[in-house]
Amino acid sequence: MEFDHTVATTKTNQYSSPEINHDGPINLYRTPPDGHLTLEECQDLFRQRLEALHVFEQYPDFLSKDNKDLVKSGIEQIKSHVFKTNCIKSNQYDKERQRLDHSSHMLVRMYCIRDPNLWGWFKSTERRLLHYRLLFDMILTADQLGLILQSFRFKFERVPFAEVPNLKKEHVIGWNLRDKGQEEVFKVHFTNALKFISKRSVALKEGYAFLTRSEIIILVCDIFEKHLESELNYGSQHLNLSLPQVQHLLDSLEVVYLDYDEKVTEYKRKLKQNDPNGYHNTAAIDVDDIEDLSKNHFPPCMRYLYESLKEDNHLKHMGRVLFASFLRSGGVPMDSAIDKIFRPEFTKKITNEKFKLNYEYNFRHIYGKEGHKKALSCFSCDKMINDNPPGPTDKHGCPFKHFDSTRVRAMMANHGLKANDIESIMMRVDGKEYKSACSLYFEFQRGYPPSEPIRIPVQFYYQSRILANMPPPPLENQGGEENHGLAITEGNLKEATTVPSYADEDSEMGDDF
Ligand code: SF4
Repeated sequence: MEFDHTVATTKTNQYSSPEINHDGPINLYRTPPDGHLTLEECQDLFRQRLEALHVFEQYPDFLSKDNKDLVKSGIEQIKSHVFKTNCIKSNQYDKERQRLDHSSHMLVRMYCIRDPNLWGWFKSTERRLLHYRLLFDMILTADQLGLILQSFRFKFERVPFAEVPNLKKEHVIGWNLRDKGQEEVFKVHFTNALKFISKRSVALKEGYAFLTRSEIIILVCDIFEKHLESELNYGSQHLNLSLPQVQHLLDSLEVVYLDYDEKVTEYKRKLKQNDPNGYHNTAAIDVDDIEDLSKNHFPPCMRYLYESLKEDNHLKHMGRVLFASFLRSGGVPMDSAIDKIFRPEFTKKITNEKFKLNYEYNFRHIYGKEGHKKALSCFSCDKMINDNPPGPTDKHGCPFKHFDSTRVRAMMANHGLKANDIESIMMRVDGKEYKSACSLYFEFQRGYPPSEPIRIPVQFYYQSRILANMPPPPLENQGGEENHGLAITEGNLKEATTVPSYADEDSEMGDDF
């Protein structure tokens, strides 16, 4: 198959700049590729590209340390069936590999053009591939980055080196210590830097934002993604799908795509089967059922916070932080937490304006929408037990640690535990084994022990929800001392209740709030 340049040269994409430098250090795929390819080679390159983009689809947060290594090995492993080289691995000096990389991109783009459902996937995964290359494969100089921006007619100014120390003195730059390219500063109008401004990762001066290397790379990727969007639009208007050669090519690519898609679907299905987080979606805290859930599934610490919120129509700072981060990890969206749980209670004593002014920001902060933009995940039991001991009017903390023995006994009796069971739990409390006491509380209340020792309140919640869906324990094992050691068979429980992590990618465990 020969790529026909005439279409591209006679019809100009209205979105593209005519003054394009096609020979930059990194290919932004702004012109058709050169050369001849057989259909089999097209299929081979198409498959390689799909596999590469799938790697980035699997690891959207490819910059995190662990994912970076997985992406690297994923890219390394992409097999070439016809061509001996893996064209995705970039090499500025290997012109043939560059040509094949170019062709593979264009083949996937061409395939996607006719199905707008694929556009979002194509743009975002290609963007990640470019970002990965710019960060780890191909270190471009500031001049080269500037040339790319120029070629897209993007307005910017390079700040002369001599002025950089002044900007540092004025604290306009230099406080982002992760950015090693602090000498390479670009000045752009603030409207072109809104995404950095909203994250507070850049400073402004006289209507301009000063971007250092890592931000410029993100900007280049943004522009590249927009460019892809315009190319897809353009292609959808001008690609002549009725041409037999085009149809023939797309049909043969479709065979590869369907095969790839089937494998990816199967892979995702297996992943979901093995991912207890899939269960999390169905067991998330439903705010409309929170009354029942708090009584039947919340750990004592969170049940107490919720009951205190209803009783006092208020929670003090640490109580708010601990309860809201628990709700967040339990799957409650921010708006539901604010509008259905906190606001209705707080506004029984204060006005809505006062709630907005004094508290709403705090909840938004916990959910990662304000301040340092890192959402908080549920705090661990160790933190609850050891840090921030509650004062006399505080409601936070671990009841097994922070309540006196009369109060903790009363709490357990109120939660329906039998006197004998309470005494067994108290033996652990007296031995300062607070988490172990909590695990036993779980077991006496539910008839099963947790499949793994309690270490995070939200883990208590999910395990409790899972057990609620289990068949009742066998009759011969019910009651008496034997019940405490009730064995749950590997097959039925282990898989369902082993929950690897309660912190998601964008959150932290409340360490630095
Ligand atoms: Fe809450 Fe953990 Fe204490 Fe249990 S051990 S009450 S889950 S803090």
